[in-house]
Amino acid sequence: MTSEFSGMTLIAGCGVSGRAAARLAACLGIPFALLDEQDNDSLRAFAASLPKQPEAVYFGFRAQDELPHFECTVLSPGFRAGNPVRAKLAEVSGRLVGELEFALGACGKPFVGITGTNGKTTTTELTAGLFRAAGVRACACGNNGYAMSDAAIDCLDGKLDLPVVEISSFQLEIMPVPHPAAAAVLNLASDHIDRHGSMEAYTAAKFKLLGDPAAVCVVNSLILDRFRPAASEQKFYSFSANLPADFTVQNGFLSFRGRSIIPIEKLGLKGIHNLENALAALALLASVQGEDAVFDPAVIGALEQFESGPHRLERFLTADGVQYINDSKATNPHAVNAALAVVGGDHNVVILLGGLDKAMDFEELAPSMKYLKHAVVFGSCGQKIAAYLEKNAIPFCMCGTFPEAVEKAAAAASSGDVVLLSPATASMDMFRDYKDRGDQFKALCRKFTDQKMIRMEQTAKPRV
Ligand code: ADP
Repeated sequence: MTSEFSGMTLIAGCGVSGRAAARLAACLGIPFALLDEQDNDSLRAFAASLPKQPEAVYFGFRAQDELPHFECTVLSPGFRAGNPVRAKLAEVSGRLVGELEFALGACGKPFVGITGTNGKTTTTELTAGLFRAAGVRACACGNNGYAMSDAAIDCLDGKLDLPVVEISSFQLEIMPVPHPAAAAVLNLASDHIDRHGSMEAYTAAKFKLLGDPAAVCVVNSLILDRFRPAASEQKFYSFSANLPADFTVQNGFLSFRGRSIIPIEKLGLKGIHNLENALAALALLASVQGEDAVFDPAVIGALEQFESGPHRLERFLTADGVQYINDSKATNPHAVNAALAVVGGDHNVVILLGGLDKAMDFEELAPSMKYLKHAVVFGSCGQKIAAYLEKNAIPFCMCGTFPEAVEKAAAAASSGDVVLLSPATASMDMFRDYKDRGDQFKALCRKFTDQKMIRMEQTAKPRV
């Protein structure tokens, strides 16, 4: 098996993607070592389970410890700039790469890349589904949880022909211009500014995905003015639900240049933002399989079947006429606007906002303000959000704990209202991740609504 990486390789950081990179190194038969700042039974069991044993293991590693030279180091995103171990790794490595670059260099197959501020996971999974419906052995991978290195092993084993890869701005920032067959930038809004330093740097990282002149590009019409083709003849498709575009919505249908594909009410996905995700997925399919592929009945069937994953506008409970919706994956203001465009009526939403800031611009929440009846604010950037709500004269309260926030939100809602967790921030100040936040929200809503029902039943009982 061939890869552009063949010399002594260090896998630095044995989390999900590092472990997959180690499996890939073992599968490629290249010499490799493992390094992690932790040392525990799970790491040691993982190392022992690999089909080829590492040449060396540096668990419990500290910056002052010795390391030999490595031709290449696959660096986990966990080693942030400024981390002394990262500085040490840069000293001893001929080349520092991310797991994505390492895996793409080994998989030997064309791939489709997808990035953007929001909609990456949804669009990646849908796109892979459309390719499968069109008869291509495709799978969703990358930042969505199935590491690109595992997909590369599937390619090398002859089980997979087209990885459809979700790619973050962090991954793009540290890699050279990638070479996808087709790639999409879905949208751009304020997010991760703490890590990239400015909106310009964040935008540049995203557009790097479209930097190969041979890649067919798929770009949202809204950001087309920021797209600089890598060559004058570079092929691209635009898409938009409400602006002129190659893939757009016309007379109630998803359409390609005036030809209807599917009526929007037949789509499994709901909401304007998801229409855009579906248009981008169709454009990627057309880019690789040809434009006729988007009219294939099997592809249209896949569009009808596909639904959003959990924690994305998940309606899980109606109690006492109030709808409860979990949108914990909304980790920036742009995603909150998308949620409120779907569920907002006039001033009927009680929203839970707050968590860990990423130096984001909360002014971007402006389109959502007209839908808010009340906001319950929690988490480490509560003050910053509260200042914005105050400026917009939205009634709000601040809560020190998440259970208190959920209880207050449920109490503020009356029949016909929506209680929406769409927090606009990252979760790691109070939760393990967005899934943990969403699961706790659902459990607390059920608990408080059950208690309310019991109280109502008790008051309704005739006195003896
Ligand atoms: P990502 O992988 O980019 O985080 P997801 O598909 O997981 O994207 O969705 C994350 C959040 O963004 C959810 O709250 C979802 O409802 C919202 N969202 C999905 N697609 C879009 C879009 N095209 N525009 C704005 N918000 C979106």
